[in-house]
Amino acid sequence: MRPARLAPLFATVRSLTGVGPKVEGVLNKLVAPRLEGAHARVIDLLWQLPVGVIDRAVTPRIAEAKIGELATLEVTVVEHRPGGGRRGRSRGPYRVLVEDEAGFAFELVYFNADPSYLKRLLPEGSKRLISGKLESYDGWLQMPHPDHVMSIDAAGGAVALPLHEPVYPLTAGLTNTTLRKAIGNAVGRLPELPEWIDARFLAQNAWPGFAEAIARLHAPATEAELLPSAPARARLAYDELLANQLALAVIRARLKRRAGRPLAGTGKLRKAILAALPFTLTTAQKRALAEIDADLKSPQRMLRLLQGDVGSGKTVVALFAMGTAVEAGAQAALMAPTELLARQHLQTSAFATAAGLRIALLTGRERGRERAEIVEALKDGRIDILIGTHALFQENIVFPDLGLVIIDEQHRFGVHQRLALQAKGSGTGAELLVMTATPIPRTLLLTSYGDMDVSRLDEKPPGRKPIATRTVPLERFEEVVSGIARAIGDGAQVYWVCPLVAESEVLDMAAAEARYAALSARFGQSVGLVHGRLPGTDKDRVMAAFAVGALSILVSTTVIEVGVDVPKASIMVIEHAERFGLAQLHQLRGRVGRGAQDSSCILLYRQPLSEAARERLNVMRRTEDGFVIAEEDLRLRGGGELLGTRQSGLPLFRVATLPEHQPLLEAARDQARLTLGRDPELKGPEAEALRLLLYLFERDDAIKLMRAG
Ligand code: ADP
Ligand code: MG
Repeated sequence: MRPARLAPLFATVRSLTGVGPKVEGVLNKLVAPRLEGAHARVIDLLWQLPVGVIDRAVTPRIAEAKIGELATLEVTVVEHRPGGGRRGRSRGPYRVLVEDEAGFAFELVYFNADPSYLKRLLPEGSKRLISGKLESYDGWLQMPHPDHVMSIDAAGGAVALPLHEPVYPLTAGLTNTTLRKAIGNAVGRLPELPEWIDARFLAQNAWPGFAEAIARLHAPATEAELLPSAPARARLAYDELLANQLALAVIRARLKRRAGRPLAGTGKLRKAILAALPFTLTTAQKRALAEIDADLKSPQRMLRLLQGDVGSGKTVVALFAMGTAVEAGAQAALMAPTELLARQHLQTSAFATAAGLRIALLTGRERGRERAEIVEALKDGRIDILIGTHALFQENIVFPDLGLVIIDEQHRFGVHQRLALQAKGSGTGAELLVMTATPIPRTLLLTSYGDMDVSRLDEKPPGRKPIATRTVPLERFEEVVSGIARAIGDGAQVYWVCPLVAESEVLDMAAAEARYAALSARFGQSVGLVHGRLPGTDKDRVMAAFAVGALSILVSTTVIEVGVDVPKASIMVIEHAERFGLAQLHQLRGRVGRGAQDSSCILLYRQPLSEAARERLNVMRRTEDGFVIAEEDLRLRGGGELLGTRQSGLPLFRVATLPEHQPLLEAARDQARLTLGRDPELKGPEAEALRLLLYLFERDDAIKLMRAG
């Protein structure tokens, strides 16, 4: 349970003075725009970061103030001019004439104002500090609706006007002033908290305490204080990264502590698989396999991420690992994110089947009798390896002895699923291997997979040729089609990927259908179409036709993004390439270049290109190395988006930004490991503060895990 002293922070914003139902509604939208029905809480306001500063430093003389800019001035109220004033107009705004010490005068202008209110606010003869935008009207200087009017006491004492105001990103219906006040209130709710950062480290960095950091975060005086390197921001970023690293370390400790069953193979099956393998393993594959074997053999449970570009041979490694589990008398499961991919894995497994492994497929599509038979055979131990989608882990699927779980394309699953899947294992749970074709920069590995060990396939199977990548403006569409016609004449096969129109499957599909129609008109029966809405059997039929060469062009939406393997296809056309992210472009391009023939990738784009899009396309032209592309992606986009967003629809971090806070991440990882090494249950007195930190950053799952033992 969350400690009581944090309760005020996790109350809804309605608990703040001045926040009624209307403001609450807007704040909900601001804080959680994508989470329908979510309630903004006080703490969510604290994590709204200012993006600018309004400078209200006092200008000594009106003569020095600039027209069109903010001015903060000390003035004396000369006279009220209700509904008229100069040039004898009888109707018009309410005006108040003021002057500065030098006798330089101008008017404050109010439309639809309540005169009695203005009389109280600005008594004639009184001194006031006013702040607002100075404008020139008909040659006269005026200030319409000042933002602030404050009295100055006779002694010229301190004034409560904020000299600098933070500027926040806003949403419709919300003013900066309203948000600023709400946040100011929220800052006031911060309870006293013990320090969780080591005193020496804190001093070394000259960081403020947590509460002061929050206060300073929302009271920047200069633009420099908005930078990730500003002390308040850096400290809070460190806090956030520390919470992240602690949570991951807790998960790791927990999964590792429960001893796995050592899965030592006899080598018999492996020998048979090697004999059936139509090629030799790459050095990278051998290295990864040795790491996996060591994990499997050890009494500690395996928790490993296998990273490798599309086509680097992960599935093959997975099959060897599963073979070892089977040798040790256990079963293994391989889960893919889509049906298509599951089938692809099954195809790649042909050599393992030849070696005597009993492999079955279970997706949403196996139903009725077929499904019942698979489930039965699995229960009876007549299936060694089950490949499938998440259908594998439905409740009625019983593995008598699941020893190894492999998850493909894990970035589509969260930490929760990781835990749930592993629990399917017999006894203490299964060994876990996660595979991803998304090359993940080191920083993000730490933040999202910090609980796992990592193996990398950084080498492609031999014989792969470079892919000639060209960027072509859409205006030259006809030329591209003619080129493709010639290539097809020579027997080439082409992927044609259609644009991501919106975040809408229907629209994407419409675009693909239109392109399919156009290409069919030209190329006739040799064009096929797949998209996400196509029933599975139809999808397979089209894919199969393409795989055997019955189709020359496969038009698709991004459904072919992951996993599809047709070595003979050698041309990839990506329409509106400027709309795709780097990771996606890289994955798509990886579909070609797998066979013996020269391959090419044509990135069709619409002009004009934004700067970012131009850079992305240039990166694609420059390199094929997935790890380089991933680092570039991180540089161009910033880290928040890359992984966190995909999983949850929300960014992973609120304050920390990567790669800017990279060094802090490393330090946080060290502190997390060190602390948990000394105190694995976070029970000691020093750990009380760290537990609060986990709650503050909502990583309390980790605490639940520790409790569950
Ligand atoms: P990934 O899962 O990493 O995309 P796969 O394991 O599916 O890669 O392999 C892609 C293709 O390369 C498959 O057709 C597979 O048979 C082949 N392959 C894998 N490893 C090798 C290797 N060492 N030498 C030659 N071909 C390989
Ligand atoms: Mg694969």
